[in-house]
Amino acid sequence: MTAEPMSVLPAATRVPSGLDDVAERLMAQMPQTVAWLEDLVRIPSISVQPEYADDCRRSAERTAQRLRDAGLEDVELLELDGTHPYVTGSWLRAGDDAPTVLLYAHHDVQPVGTPERWSSSPFEPTEREGRLYGRGAADDKAGIMAHVAAIRAWLDTRGTLPVNVKVVIEGEEEIGSPNLERFLDTYGARLRADVIVLTDLTNWKVGWPGLTYALRGMADVVVTVRAMQQPVHSGMWGGVVPDALTATVRLLASLHDDAGAIAVDGFEDDVRALADDERARLEALEGDGEALADDFRDEARLVAGAEFVGDDRRTILERLWMRPTITPTGMDVPAVAAASNTLLAQVRTKLSCRLAPGQDPDRALDALRRHLETNVPWGLEVQVDVGERNRAWVTEPGGGAWDAAVAAMTAAYGREPAAMGCGGSIPFVEPFSDAFGGAPCLLVGVEDPGSNAHGEDESLHLEDFAKACLTEAFLLAELGRDAG
Ligand SMILES: [Zn+2]
Repeated sequence: MTAEPMSVLPAATRVPSGLDDVAERLMAQMPQTVAWLEDLVRIPSISVQPEYADDCRRSAERTAQRLRDAGLEDVELLELDGTHPYVTGSWLRAGDDAPTVLLYAHHDVQPVGTPERWSSSPFEPTEREGRLYGRGAADDKAGIMAHVAAIRAWLDTRGTLPVNVKVVIEGEEEIGSPNLERFLDTYGARLRADVIVLTDLTNWKVGWPGLTYALRGMADVVVTVRAMQQPVHSGMWGGVVPDALTATVRLLASLHDDAGAIAVDGFEDDVRALADDERARLEALEGDGEALADDFRDEARLVAGAEFVGDDRRTILERLWMRPTITPTGMDVPAVAAASNTLLAQVRTKLSCRLAPGQDPDRALDALRRHLETNVPWGLEVQVDVGERNRAWVTEPGGGAWDAAVAAMTAAYGREPAAMGCGGSIPFVEPFSDAFGGAPCLLVGVEDPGSNAHGEDESLHLEDFAKACLTEAFLLAELGRDAG
């Protein structure tokens, strides 16, 4: 693809004093950075589908190559039995007094969804109107390249970095990081850092950066409703014998009230209440709510006339960032084309929960289990199997690292970042921060709300991508200054 030459600084950027050489080098290298990104996007590193395991390895190897190109040392693939490879590298010559910063991104991607709904092939990166389209173009291969671009610009210009840097690029983020604990046990010590920077988030708007201080957690539950030992003839038995699908539909309907707010007793009991200043921040971002609601309709591509769900006494942003959800995302039932005239004996449903800051996953899931067992109709059997779960993460916006990120973003984007929550989950954050003695985590992003990560036509706004790369180059200087 022919990327626009982006050697000129974005008009909004105000380079911090003393960093002109680094900023100019970074911009001069931008076409190469984008070409390397395109090269990575061409590798379909879909971690959830076993047939792409070789591609996950290839994307790890290509990522390792780029970390070496950036000037990092000790670059290698880190693996455990049965995991997709992680990639690490480091540059530790800034001295003992300089802080050590761990830079995180992930090289695996989501499946493509419905290929026909893509305007161009998901693994053939294509530029249209200033955006780069392709699976992983934003989430999160651009995150990898932001690290590469910043480190490379510094090392090429100065031969040194203002801080010690370690990089870890995960290969299993999109499947919920199932091996993170084992990975942390095995390799955590060598990744130890004073600050963690995760480039896998969304900015508030195009041109308006965001700094994320809260992530929702996640839990998977499989619910099995059983009515009988085997399906039976719907004519011979229907009208008297209960079927598992009707029972399941009634049971699922009981999880929410008419407005779509959660109606499970006790599930939300320990959700952390918003502090006054936090509520004020959310309300300031939300404005009167009208424009935000319109944007959400567009960005989510909602059908005309669809209403939002949830407790409407809470703002949209509070519902999205600070409250939990329970959503069915899959069901084992006969497909329509294969349906016969039988009463179904058993139906399995996958429930995906997003957990809010404050919620103890085990406590919340116990409440959900009680609800399902109590509300299953007609005396049928219900079995609840809890799968992967991780708690939400939240930090207080402020402090040295946070202020450094605010300064770097304000310089790169020409406006202060919004303090944001994120409805999604990054399992890496909490355990690593804990393992490093509560090291501050800076959650920054390359995406904007139009990026449609995980959906079709995923895309990256290229000018904002340059600003994200500049942010990181400036941030390294800020974090180095902070220590001095
Ligand atoms: Zn991601």
